[in-house]
Amino acid sequence: MHPLTFADQELTNLRGKGLWRPLRVLESPQGPRIRIGGDDLLNMSSNDYLGLANDPEMRDAAQAAVDAFGAGAGAVRTIAGTMEIHEALEREIAEWKGVEATLVLQSGFAANLGAVASLVGRDDVILSDELNHASIIDACRLSRATVRRFAHSDADSLRAELRQCEGYPRKLVVTDGVFSMDGDIAPLPDLVEAAEEFGAMVMVDDAHGSGVLGRGGRGTVDHFGLKGRVHVQMGTLSKAIGSMGGYLAGSQTLRDYLIHHARPFLFSTSHPPAVVGATRAAIAILSREPQRVDRLWENARYFKAGLADLGLNMGRSETPITPVIVGEAETAHALSDKLRTLGIFVQSVAYPTVARDAARVRVMVSAAHSRDDLDQAIGAFARAATDLGLN
Ligand SMILES: *Cc1c(COP(=O)(O)O)cnc(C)c1O
Repeated sequence: MHPLTFADQELTNLRGKGLWRPLRVLESPQGPRIRIGGDDLLNMSSNDYLGLANDPEMRDAAQAAVDAFGAGAGAVRTIAGTMEIHEALEREIAEWKGVEATLVLQSGFAANLGAVASLVGRDDVILSDELNHASIIDACRLSRATVRRFAHSDADSLRAELRQCEGYPRKLVVTDGVFSMDGDIAPLPDLVEAAEEFGAMVMVDDAHGSGVLGRGGRGTVDHFGLKGRVHVQMGTLSKAIGSMGGYLAGSQTLRDYLIHHARPFLFSTSHPPAVVGATRAAIAILSREPQRVDRLWENARYFKAGLADLGLNMGRSETPITPVIVGEAETAHALSDKLRTLGIFVQSVAYPTVARDAARVRVMVSAAHSRDDLDQAIGAFARAATDLGLN
């Protein structure tokens, strides 16, 4: 038997269950309108919250960085892969976030791995929200620390777990700031208070909070006014910021420590100049045009009010992430397919990404959507919901 036969069998199994999904291939840049399979579609599935992914200023900045610094970085940061622009970007993110220092890694995923696995080790304990992102779950495993999960967004459950953790030298409380599948916001003030009672470090994964929540998109910590009380703010540069990368924001000590311990930083090559140039332009745009974030929230409110009028179940969403929860995976896929025939690109999400009975389509509202776009989407949901008997 071929050593990869198991993989064929698994794919056959997925097809049998109707769970095999092809990759959707864009024939256009990312944006509110995209081309897939020759069809022009309204895009309501990307994480490009602020419409920056194809921003002309960012494209120009990427090209200028290539002209000045070339196509590749050529080494890891600690050998010869740190260019002036890498450090400039880190200073600019620190200024924007209002923290002492930041460190940029290749992706949000890499940033989580690098931070968690270097802040705690075998003898330590991590307290992790049960719905945390896959990259945090992997980071926890990689750290070899004991992992205790607390009930979702429940500070009392966190406290109960912390009470069991007396003997551990280091304790790390980690939570998503905004939960990526449900769009709810972590009750950070309560979690921080609990962590402080037990002398635990606090880390927030703000992949969906960065550029979205807080003043001008400064994130969940800013949203709750918790400056100085969260030791590690992780954010991605790949979603609202429109390019690629992950940053870890906090004190100068944190940055210096991570430079010496975070393995994706130490052992994986730094960003190519084009990425750094584009990202610097994005941070400049965000600092200069906080109204983009206001526009995102206006759009989210308008769209969600439209779906609420249709009687659709948006779960506990409090942000532009808008799940429409339908139950069975097949129903979610059928809804996605139906919307596609109506010109709307909305991806379905099912087990194991979400609970078995909570399959959904996940609608992402962007600042780049026009009122007409949102009306078109609400109209399509009205038709699809009637056809599928969802309301
Ligand atoms: C997307 C995401 C990440 C990973 O960020 P990338 O920059 O895409 O690697 C980490 N955490 C959460 C909560 C996310 O949604």
